[in-house]
Amino acid sequence: MSAAADAVTDALRELRSRFAGVRDGALADYIPQLAVADPEAFGLALISMDGHRYSTGEADVPFTMQSVSKPFVYALALSVLGVDEVSRWVNAEPSGEAFNAISLEPGTGRPDNAMVNAGAIVTTALIPDAADAPRFDRILDCLGRFAGRQLDVDEAVYASEVATGDRNRALAYLIRSAGPLPVDPVGAVETYFRQCSVRVTALDLAAMAATLANGGVNPLNGDVVVDEPVAAQVLAVMATCGMYDGSGDWLLRVGLPAKSGVSGGLIAAGPARFGLAAYSPLLDPSGTSVRGRIALGALSERLGLHLMHNPALAASTVTLVTTADDLPSAPTGEQERALRERVAVVAAQGAIDFTAAERVLYALDESRPDETASVVLDLRQVTGIDTVARAMLRSGLARLTEGGRRTAVVDPAGHLGVRGGDPAAPRRFSSREEAVDRSARDAERPTT
Ligand code: GLN
Repeated sequence: MSAAADAVTDALRELRSRFAGVRDGALADYIPQLAVADPEAFGLALISMDGHRYSTGEADVPFTMQSVSKPFVYALALSVLGVDEVSRWVNAEPSGEAFNAISLEPGTGRPDNAMVNAGAIVTTALIPDAADAPRFDRILDCLGRFAGRQLDVDEAVYASEVATGDRNRALAYLIRSAGPLPVDPVGAVETYFRQCSVRVTALDLAAMAATLANGGVNPLNGDVVVDEPVAAQVLAVMATCGMYDGSGDWLLRVGLPAKSGVSGGLIAAGPARFGLAAYSPLLDPSGTSVRGRIALGALSERLGLHLMHNPALAASTVTLVTTADDLPSAPTGEQERALRERVAVVAAQGAIDFTAAERVLYALDESRPDETASVVLDLRQVTGIDTVARAMLRSGLARLTEGGRRTAVVDPAGHLGVRGGDPAAPRRFSSREEAVDRSARDAERPTT
């Protein structure tokens, strides 16, 4: 076992043993088949963005997804119909009410959000149902792609849900009576029961959460399950609505998008970090796993995962702001030094996003020895530039050129995407020396 595996697994083990003694809560019994679960079972799993799997306890024990299916079916609906169309029929407001509340928007009959039963039933109804692609097949296939393996249905739990699901049926009838919905929620409610009865393990759920955290790409196999904006939209609704009437308190204290289900499954996603899952069937009154809630809460606190907690950037973006005569490579001749004095050099490193680009542009502005000095932007240590940052840097450099400064970039990897032949674009070099040399020689000539 590697050092990383030891450290992460140890953290999960430590949490499990710390909270295994908690016996509060009760098994869900309104769906009789759920009451046969082992109340002692307690599994924890974590999957990283590189697809590394860590787990402890009952992380391989199968149970049904229940409400943990809701965000993933919502993701499917968003993929098929887009956020505007889905939002016409299902709102995205926290309800502050229980998961099975009989509550619809006055006037329109629109459910509050896709994480409570009413909204989930409508969401399921919105998934197209075609002869060659039946609605439930599409859902099962999508859930399986999130998990990275083919999933199946626990037919005993399904039968138990169907036998006792009158409240959900009542909700579906109420929705149909209230709203202009283009699809039939009453027909879809059996499909909703079926999606709740899909069998998973804590490790499966961690993979599903990790796929959302990873921008919709399953980190186990690289499958693009949903587009990045859809993954972000789903995480947003999980953050505000995923824990029902406990959502605000969860976001306050734990600070991660999450979703619980009445069989004892609980997921949480650390965007761009990892997917987490817990399985422990003893539930609190709101239908969330007691130990799952405590364990994931403790993990978030211990590892500093609260989304609103904003640690300082690990490495500084701008590593050098100077003039070329101060570089170690500068020649000693008087005249050459004088020319190099009028070449500003700024070097950046790491991944450049909006925040980092702002720093680079600020450094470029600060770097000017005078209004006409040339400027060399060295991007050799940059690992990537996102679209927003690329546009910012390009227009910032163009503005400098317009203002009468000569600009050059050292960008052998082509991060800036400047094309040759564009007169407004900065000149591109593959070594700093070459860029500085050229800029220094050009400094002898007036700019036009
Ligand atoms: N199938 C369950 C129901 O509709 C799911 C509820 C839940 O997990 N919160 O009642």
